[in-house]
Amino acid sequence: MKKLEQLYEGKAKKVYATDESDIVIVSYKDDATAFNGQKKGTITGKGAINNKMTNNLMQKLEKSGIPTHFVQELSDRETAVKKVTIIPLEVIIRNISAGSFAKNYGVAEGIVFSQPTLEFSYKNDDLGDPLINDTHALALGLATEEDLASIKRYAYAINDQLKAFMKTIGIDLVDFKLEFGRLPDGSIVLADEISPDTCRLWDCETHEKLDKDRFRRDLGGAEEAYEEVMRRLTGVE
Ligand code: UDP
Repeated sequence: MKKLEQLYEGKAKKVYATDESDIVIVSYKDDATAFNGQKKGTITGKGAINNKMTNNLMQKLEKSGIPTHFVQELSDRETAVKKVTIIPLEVIIRNISAGSFAKNYGVAEGIVFSQPTLEFSYKNDDLGDPLINDTHALALGLATEEDLASIKRYAYAINDQLKAFMKTIGIDLVDFKLEFGRLPDGSIVLADEISPDTCRLWDCETHEKLDKDRFRRDLGGAEEAYEEVMRRLTGVE
């Protein structure tokens, strides 16, 4: 497979065309942003960690029956994935209160929910990714009712898998964001990434934050936190 021209540059990844029309290459950057791009920085080594962690988890999810865009890891930072049309919804699952949930609803971080929550944001940087519900997504034509049903079913199944797996490596899966894409045949697959950029990961014992909140909140030790997650992830294989 040959890497061709750059198609897109996002905040944390670049996407390249290939000589195969149904495959693109994603290249993960060390660039970190927060608060809708207002805070910018670098987390050295993040690109390689997010690439390998995403691929590791997507392969595990595939084995348990969740379709993903993953095709093949090409290098430390680059992966071949199926070309999809991204559905402009950020799908957020929460097991424990944190971040915008704690802020919006006036509760402390760290409340363990008896069942997970699921919310949608409209993926639109100009609007600041506003929270929307199913009927808004339908009204805006972002997805069909069938799409939303599949997305929710996959998101809860992914949560069950990831939460159980993270527990085995001493991590509480607090919350995370997923994005889904559509293949040319109309089917929906998990796309984007699953990494400390997109998940809140707390050490089960110490409750230390092992994710992008270290960067967002200037806690220091972001590089070390990403490395620690990767060390635990690869240590159990
Ligand atoms: N998240 C993300 N991208 C976004 C917004 C949120 O990956 O654009 C992830 C975030 O890392 C966290 C979860 O989704 O794991 C829930 O984020 P929240 O709504 O609490 O927003 P935040 O506090 O990050 O603004």
